[in-house]
Amino acid sequence: METIYLDNAATTPLDREVFEKIAPYYTELFGNADSPHAVGRRAMRAVDEARDTLASLMNAKNNEIYFTSGGTESDNWAILGGARAMREQGRTHIVISSIEHHACFHAAQTLEKEGFSVTYLPVNKSGRVESGALKEAITKNTCLVALMWANNETGVLQPIETACELAHEQGALFFTDAVQATPYLPIDVKSLGVDMLSFSGHKFHGVKGSGGLYIKNGVKIKKLVGGGEQERGLRGGTVNVPSVVALALAYAKTRAEQTQANEKIKGLSELFMKEIATLDGVVQNGDIQNALPSILNLRFNGVENTAFLYNMDLKGVCLAAGSACASASVKPSHVLTAMGLTEREAKESVRFSFGKTNTAEEIRQAASLTKETVDRLRG
Ligand code: PLP
Repeated sequence: METIYLDNAATTPLDREVFEKIAPYYTELFGNADSPHAVGRRAMRAVDEARDTLASLMNAKNNEIYFTSGGTESDNWAILGGARAMREQGRTHIVISSIEHHACFHAAQTLEKEGFSVTYLPVNKSGRVESGALKEAITKNTCLVALMWANNETGVLQPIETACELAHEQGALFFTDAVQATPYLPIDVKSLGVDMLSFSGHKFHGVKGSGGLYIKNGVKIKKLVGGGEQERGLRGGTVNVPSVVALALAYAKTRAEQTQANEKIKGLSELFMKEIATLDGVVQNGDIQNALPSILNLRFNGVENTAFLYNMDLKGVCLAAGSACASASVKPSHVLTAMGLTEREAKESVRFSFGKTNTAEEIRQAASLTKETVDRLRG
């Protein structure tokens, strides 16, 4: 039985060219980038090149890109570090959407314990935050607004430019979690105007445990990981050279192929919908007009997602109910319930996330297995 992998929002396979490029950084080019001798300097050159590549592709300066261990660390750092620094100006309120990733939620909860107040922004039925809610929530006491660019369960894009403008009008920082958006939308930090933006390598065929945070020059942030003087003294720890090299090459390849990859992926998603069109009682969750090309969040009336996922897995199709980090949880998705779905409706919903390595044949087969499984579980 061939495996059909439709969980590309959880992670993607490492690109083979990236894999080959980084192999020597584990062996001959193993240097500690902070060692001043030749072996160290060679490693530092690779790190500098990677930083330059990412900065130029994102329209940032190279001293605005910080390497981290991935999206989770970047999200925590932006929210905790940004808010704690702004507290010195007397501001103690943060605004965060109710559909953020748990990495952001947990940081917000930590801030609550430190005496910050937190406003959780609602979303509408389509899964989008509305500008009215943003205007109402952001005040002169707000130090930070956090709104993800694209949601990881529905793919719905958020109004980050409006949120950024409204945050700046009140003197607050604006941070966006771009972990899901990075593979599909070109990042230009200057035109977005954001103060901080997080990204993660394994979502675009890089290695797991790699990522970064863009921090605009002039933005004050407290460090999250203390230690050595790496990353301009703001993030301690020996730089993971192979992971950083992988991050830059995987991102460069993603940007070079983005338009064609998006077209292919959108085509696969449309093909899937066409192939299951004869199935009754299917509802698509979220605003499909304003979403990533890669994610379909579908509700199959009367079918528990746990039973569906189990049966599909037995047939070799890998899918998810939502975030992989929450998959051990029996709770309904916080994203779908924030959109107004009942607990039962949320527990009937499944995320299909397509990627550039999928084929039309896999999609036809997955669609046929979906129809068969839904019919059987309903029967
Ligand atoms: N933010 C979003 C929106 C995500 O989808 C994820 C991962 O699923 C993360 C953050 C965490 O990223 P990482 O897996 O690199 O820690």
